[in-house]
Amino acid sequence: MPSNLLHPFAPPAKDQFIKIVRGQGAIVTDDKGNEYIDGMGSLWYSNIGHGNTEMADAVSAQMRQLEAYHVFDPYTNEPSEVLATKISELAPMKNSRVFFTSSGSEAVDSAMKLARIAMVQAGHPERTIIITRVRAYHGVTYGGMSAQGLPLNQAGFGPLLPGIINVPADDIEAMASVMSEHGHEVAAIMTEPVQGAGGVWPPVPGYLEGLERLARQYGCYLIADEVICGFGRLGTWFGSQHFGIEPDMVTFAKGVSSGYIPLGGVIVGPRVLAPLEADPSFILRHGFTYSGHPVSAVAGLTNINIIERDGLLQRSLHIGARLGAGLHALAQDGTVADVRGVGSVFGVKLNNGVDSVQVRNTMLAKGVITRALPSTVTFCPPFVTTDAQIDHIIDALATSAG
Ligand code: PLP
Repeated sequence: MPSNLLHPFAPPAKDQFIKIVRGQGAIVTDDKGNEYIDGMGSLWYSNIGHGNTEMADAVSAQMRQLEAYHVFDPYTNEPSEVLATKISELAPMKNSRVFFTSSGSEAVDSAMKLARIAMVQAGHPERTIIITRVRAYHGVTYGGMSAQGLPLNQAGFGPLLPGIINVPADDIEAMASVMSEHGHEVAAIMTEPVQGAGGVWPPVPGYLEGLERLARQYGCYLIADEVICGFGRLGTWFGSQHFGIEPDMVTFAKGVSSGYIPLGGVIVGPRVLAPLEADPSFILRHGFTYSGHPVSAVAGLTNINIIERDGLLQRSLHIGARLGAGLHALAQDGTVADVRGVGSVFGVKLNNGVDSVQVRNTMLAKGVITRALPSTVTFCPPFVTTDAQIDHIIDALATSAG
């Protein structure tokens, strides 16, 4: 009999799950006492690692002072103000402001809505189209689900949101030709700097720069969906900085709080802000009850301080270099078919006929967590993972992928 918990991305009829009860650093423990190296940073988010008591103390102190108060007009709170300022300072574009959400999907939907409403305020209500890429993952709410380029996640949930065009993933010519036909109706191009949940696909060289050029040429916005890339995964605060692009909006979640409290948001750049701020009588009728939640904001601030103080951007590059070298060696000797990745996030394509769920299960039995995608397993370890733990991840894959 299944329990009362209806699990996401799982067969509703399934009744056996691994019950995780504890975490410390890169290790999580289940209710039977088995320890696992968390090679996936939970679900691409545990950047500072598990069990950090500094985080627990900080959110507890905030909860004791003010557990929550909304920031709809006319209210605000100090932790959200300070975190917005901090994120604006770290952002890939200057003079930005930050809109907070509780998740990546809410962030994506917010960015899509902000793009459309900013175009309306700029006198371009005809600009409603959002262009996204095949293989993109932008979450599961109707906006993000409709925008994503993974048809399996859309099947059965239609009708989807209209006004989305999905183009081949790495083909700048395809994007240019859609823009030449629809450019005057486009509100935004939205892309992950590195496509994550679709299997970890770094962009082909020059592709993101090409998107930025097209956005400028046709006067639409460029949205970087940095829910995975943001907050150090590529060794920079944002993936846009790694690739040298300047988007108009950046969506973030996951690593901003390393998951200690749900938090996400949109960094909104000056090209979007200008039309929104131009008319003092305009009201932005968008926001979630928990936009600007002070406890989430304290989790975000503490997380960023830990990343800065402990040099975790450099650690991300270090573990990525070690893990990448080990994975590439497995590709060279034919144990796996291919390795894709950048910074400390990797997708490993398995050899033909090797089942990724089987590999995941074998690795679990060897004490390592990976994520099984079709023909691919992925890695996104916490920045505090030790060299020995990285080596254990590589060994476990080497002896499980055959
Ligand atoms: N956008 C990207 C790039 C993501 O990777 C994800 C989640 O993996 C989302 C959006 C959705 O985030 P959430 O699951 O927090 O709603």
